[in-house]
Amino acid sequence: MTCSEALFERAQRSIPGGVNSPVRAFTSVGGTPRFIAAAQGAWLTDADGRRYVDYVGSWGPMILGHQHPAITAALEAQLAIGISYGAPTELEIEMAELLCARVPGLEQVRMCNSGTEATMSALRLARGATGRDYILKFEGCYHGHGDALLVKAGSGLLTFGVPTSPGVPADLAKYTLTAQFNDLDSVQALFDAHRDAIAAVIVEPVAGNMNCVPPAPGFLEGLRALCDRDGALLIFDEVMTGFRVGPRGAAGLYGITPDLITLGKIIGAGLPVGAFGGRRDIMQRLAPAGPVYQAGTLSGNPLAMAAGLAQLRALDDAALYARLEATTAELLAGLREAAQRAGVPFSTTQVGSMFGLYFTDRGTPTRYADVIACNLDAFKRFFHAMLDGGVYLAPSAYEAGFVSAAHGREEIDHTLGAAAAAMDAIRR
Ligand code: PMP
Repeated sequence: MTCSEALFERAQRSIPGGVNSPVRAFTSVGGTPRFIAAAQGAWLTDADGRRYVDYVGSWGPMILGHQHPAITAALEAQLAIGISYGAPTELEIEMAELLCARVPGLEQVRMCNSGTEATMSALRLARGATGRDYILKFEGCYHGHGDALLVKAGSGLLTFGVPTSPGVPADLAKYTLTAQFNDLDSVQALFDAHRDAIAAVIVEPVAGNMNCVPPAPGFLEGLRALCDRDGALLIFDEVMTGFRVGPRGAAGLYGITPDLITLGKIIGAGLPVGAFGGRRDIMQRLAPAGPVYQAGTLSGNPLAMAAGLAQLRALDDAALYARLEATTAELLAGLREAAQRAGVPFSTTQVGSMFGLYFTDRGTPTRYADVIACNLDAFKRFFHAMLDGGVYLAPSAYEAGFVSAAHGREEIDHTLGAAAAAMDAIRR
């Protein structure tokens, strides 16, 4: 028995399913999750001492790699003067100022503790500001596990085949309308059926919880126009894409300014964090400035602010984003070549350092239905062959992959070496 196997057995006695977030359990790919003992740069080390090139990066936050010296130093400095005060700090102002300076459309911002909190709060604010009850989301898009958003969500729900979680009252779910990503007609139809009743459209501008599906040309522009016509707010959920797909996130990359934006992951550098913000007139409705209530004991936590600020300052570097994108392109070109050599139908998507891998002969997916139609069995076999070869991919066919600034020649060569064998294993 390996150490990970023993730990998984032990974990299941005291933790439901042995994990604190479902996809970590390897349920959809089978086998035993690797329990991680340490991480450095682009590498994870598991409890058995095996090393893996990491393409999960804590599901996105570790864009500079693990144990980046600037972040470690910022954390050590803050540790020396206090962990949490429950009172305002200058660090929070610095974070808010930095976010507002870099993220298009962000005039004011409120910190919270997770992406889930950010989207829940943004929706409450949108409903409070518009006086409308309906929200519109897209099938396969995941916005955290708030009740109203656990309707036809992606990520873990897709992995486990649960369209809408038990425990979400039907009376509540009925206010969540679901359209198809990259299909403006499906959005128009819902606006036609619910005129002047939709508070907000919430979208992952690059869908990262049904693998990685970029927006079709005109899709985000179309959402902006439909929202404006109806008086609904447009919310970009940039928890994944913020500071990932480019230095100004997806709003900057595609030149569309939403009314509200949610952030998380990268802005905390691996510490628990989230944020939501946008138009000043809307944000002013939030307590204590306005009547819409939202709060958090640990919100704006000094350690999270210190780590996040250090990471965001290091990310103020166009050359770094160019390098991330080039490394990712090289990785994907190598994977496609390995697949082609082995005769395995395969395609990839990329936006900056975010990527998707698809085992399909029907072309690159642009819709939810295309993603669902991919060959799951091929993915599972590829995943395990890569894991055996020392490469840690997301343990689900419905998650995006992430490259960090610590991924270099050695890591790409190692990955492509493993991929050649893995593609051969699939063909057999
Ligand atoms: N929104 C998006 C787009 C996400 O990808 C995620 C998590 N992967 C969330 C919201 C929820 O964030 P958290 O897990 O921090 O609650």
